[in-house]
Amino acid sequence: MLAAVVLTACQTQQGQPDTPMVGEQIVTENRSGVVVRRKGKVRGLARRSSSRAASVVERARTPRAYVPRKPGRRVSHVNVPGKYVALTFDDGPSAAYTPQVLDILKRHGARATFFVVGRSAAANKGILARAVSEGHEIANHTYSHIKMTAKSRQAVANEIERTNAIIKSATGYSPTVMRPPYGAVNSGLVDMMYNRYGFYTVLWDVDTRDWQKPGVSKVVSRAVGQAQPGSIILLHDIHASTLAAVEQVVTGLQARGYKLVTVSQLIAMGRRASGDVSPASPEGAVTAPATGGADIQPVAATASESL
Ligand code: ZN
Repeated sequence: MLAAVVLTACQTQQGQPDTPMVGEQIVTENRSGVVVRRKGKVRGLARRSSSRAASVVERARTPRAYVPRKPGRRVSHVNVPGKYVALTFDDGPSAAYTPQVLDILKRHGARATFFVVGRSAAANKGILARAVSEGHEIANHTYSHIKMTAKSRQAVANEIERTNAIIKSATGYSPTVMRPPYGAVNSGLVDMMYNRYGFYTVLWDVDTRDWQKPGVSKVVSRAVGQAQPGSIILLHDIHASTLAAVEQVVTGLQARGYKLVTVSQLIAMGRRASGDVSPASPEGAVTAPATGGADIQPVAATASESL
């Protein structure tokens, strides 16, 4: 699972899998909350077999500390007291596929989170507005799908703020979570996202690798078979093959007793379950929606503009 988190990440607009850059510090955590820090020297590992890559990463990891059970600023899984999971869709919105994804989610009473690329969001504002009106969450995935760890802080800020402005103008809602393209992030960027924007940096613990187009049954079996309470499941709403799998993913999870909620709802559940009563965000930053729990509420446009 750790290997999946580190090595595959999400897809580029050009359809290439992510590979961490040499020399980057890759910071992640496994399902047990073990924080793993290491220097990334894994370029090319994604081309090896998954078992080989997993064994290499397993040897490379050096657990340094255990994080508390409450959600940290970087989230790949949330400890929740119930069968809740978050479906996440990256790299859209797509005029061709996202509305059909929304139709499926609506039909089955499921919520999801869309990590949108700003340049696609700007061209599809109506889709964003619809998603929010139907209770889904819109989240920031940078404007042009940059590798944040390879850019200056100013360049990162420009990408984040430009995308925030587009989401705000389309929906009236300011996002409260973000996902770094390729999962490429480091501690400094995680802190920047939280302190400047109030963002949780959201990764995932179930990678369907749908961008590899492995077939509907594989995508469904990975999403449904690997999900655990509190899982964050990675999909991309820019592929016909993913669209073909979404309904079975949703119904498969629901058949196993899972409720599908947004990432912010999942994080809010984790905060409550851990007894965390600290402010969701630093003063002056946007405020995370205080929704979630068994009575699932739509993600409301309650956040204040901070940019
Ligand atoms: Zn992406």
